[in-house]
Amino acid sequence: MSGPAAVTLALTVLGCSGSYAGPGGACSGYLVQSDGVSVWLDAGPGTLANLQLHLDLDDLDAVVLTHAHPDHWVDVLPYHNAIRYLRPRTGLPVFSPPEVRRLAREVNGGLEPALHWTDVHGGSTVTVGALSLSFSRTDHGPETLAVRVGDASGASLGYSADTGPGWSLSELGPDLGLALCEASLAPEQERRVQHLTAAQAGTSARAAGARRLVITHLQPGVDPDRSRDDASAAFGLPVDLAADHARYEVHR
Ligand SMILES: [Zn+2]
Ligand SMILES: [Zn+2]
Repeated sequence: MSGPAAVTLALTVLGCSGSYAGPGGACSGYLVQSDGVSVWLDAGPGTLANLQLHLDLDDLDAVVLTHAHPDHWVDVLPYHNAIRYLRPRTGLPVFSPPEVRRLAREVNGGLEPALHWTDVHGGSTVTVGALSLSFSRTDHGPETLAVRVGDASGASLGYSADTGPGWSLSELGPDLGLALCEASLAPEQERRVQHLTAAQAGTSARAAGARRLVITHLQPGVDPDRSRDDASAAFGLPVDLAADHARYEVHR
């Protein structure tokens, strides 16, 4: 005997290499799902291929692109090919800072009617079906938006996108069941560029009161074991390293 399926917020990693993809890897991209709604959160190179291992493209409900660096969005261009020419559909919602739309238009020309692109900024809120998304401007070169995603069960996850230490996950609000935070840098690279070390990611997630931390966007060559240890020490609990195709369920 079973009742209606419980609503569960789930995050699947489609790619997690920072800045460029390591051998066999893919850059930043995640699939966020709840209650039959599916959002592709960042579309780094390699993530369109991996997305299709988890979702029929016809079932995608929206795309969210956090910033204009190419490791976070360029697979939306071949996705546009797919739905413009081969698997036609119209009005697929895309949310991003305006610079990403400008660059996409420069490469692919007209994006409508396949895509329905909406500019968002820090402080913007949007809904995609049962998912509610809110954005926060991070400490990173181009306009970059961290995002909080909540669902009807009351569960929420937070994604840092790319950021330096001048922004904290606490900007996404309290009660994050899971924080997905960039940890691009080895310790000796701290503050050389607008990214975080694993220890800084752990500190940020701890300050936000997140119940679980997954670190991602490690640049190729950064020691994953040391990064996990550094993040865990700063967070105060064991931390997961994002891995392609890993799936996390998030509860309130
Ligand atoms: Zn990046
Ligand atoms: Zn970036």
